[in-house]
Amino acid sequence: MLDTLGRNISYLRLSVTDKCNCRCTYCMPPAGVPTRSHRDLLSFEELTDIVRAAATLGVRKVRVTGGEPLARRGVVDLVGMLSGVPGIEEVDMTTNATMLAPVAADLRAAGLTRLNVSLDTLRPDRYRAITRTGELADALAGLAAAREAGFESTKINCVLMGGVNDDEAAELVDIARREPIEVRFIELMPMGECASWPRERFVSGDVVLERVPELVPLGSSGVAELYSAPGFAGRVGLIRAVSHRFCSGCDRIRVTADGRLKPCLHSAAEVSLRGLAGEALTDAIRAGIEAKPAHHNLAPGVRPSDTPRDMNEIGG
Ligand code: SAM
Ligand code: SF4
Repeated sequence: MLDTLGRNISYLRLSVTDKCNCRCTYCMPPAGVPTRSHRDLLSFEELTDIVRAAATLGVRKVRVTGGEPLARRGVVDLVGMLSGVPGIEEVDMTTNATMLAPVAADLRAAGLTRLNVSLDTLRPDRYRAITRTGELADALAGLAAAREAGFESTKINCVLMGGVNDDEAAELVDIARREPIEVRFIELMPMGECASWPRERFVSGDVVLERVPELVPLGSSGVAELYSAPGFAGRVGLIRAVSHRFCSGCDRIRVTADGRLKPCLHSAAEVSLRGLAGEALTDAIRAGIEAKPAHHNLAPGVRPSDTPRDMNEIGG
């Protein structure tokens, strides 16, 4: 459906857990999150009802995210339930891939369309420092398993941070040189854990173009501006949410792990979907779409996100 500014809302991001086996420094507190009772999380039936209601309002694509979606027990079954909802054309997942290898083929069989894998560095020690608990080898094994399971158009999500991993921009771009993968650089957004980080950590996506000047623009696709160069098997995407606000093209809504619809990632406004069914659920989702603000007001070092939540509760 169209929101009040004429934006066509066709994409739902569903956080299915706020838990994660990693604790990335910019995303989660070092001690992780307090254990939620199982009842606080939406059940698979409730998640499917939300997707069914959203589909009647024009949602066509769902992304299963987290926390770490693969940390939610039975997530393969959930993917099967969501991909069977009438009107849903695509069910995707964003994952750190460290637990992907054993379930990649099952996810594909359950109907998962595409995978986005988060990978901020290719150095094992740095991977451990950024994720606090993760192993690079596990994430790379997950990526390889995705390829073997037949997933196409896998994307890599990389958050570049000044003084942390921005020196690796060219090496990460090289993945797209060698493989038919889209490597997407996402600007760090000041929220939750990283809201108070120093200004220098928030590097513009432009740094990628400075480090790899041979990249030539191909145009945009959704929120990403795409680039490639002669001899590249894949392509590079820049998601410049902070330096080049793209809210006028926003096509998405989000549901948090505890069942609240967020009209905008960076606003504090939320609509509770918990306990709703039938018309009441559809009306609440419609109200959330109608409440979408025109744009966010982020400015690193000046104005952090208005959302009080960490990214692991929202899912990116
Ligand atoms: N655990 C999964 C993963 O890491 O892919 C899915 C959830 S994670 C919250 C989704 C994405 O949000 C990841 O690509 C992560 O790098 C990104 N992210 C987390 N905090 C962020 C922030 N402050 N700014 C920009 N991206 C962020
Ligand atoms: Fe976990 Fe993903 Fe957040 Fe890292 S970015 S702590 S992998 S939810």
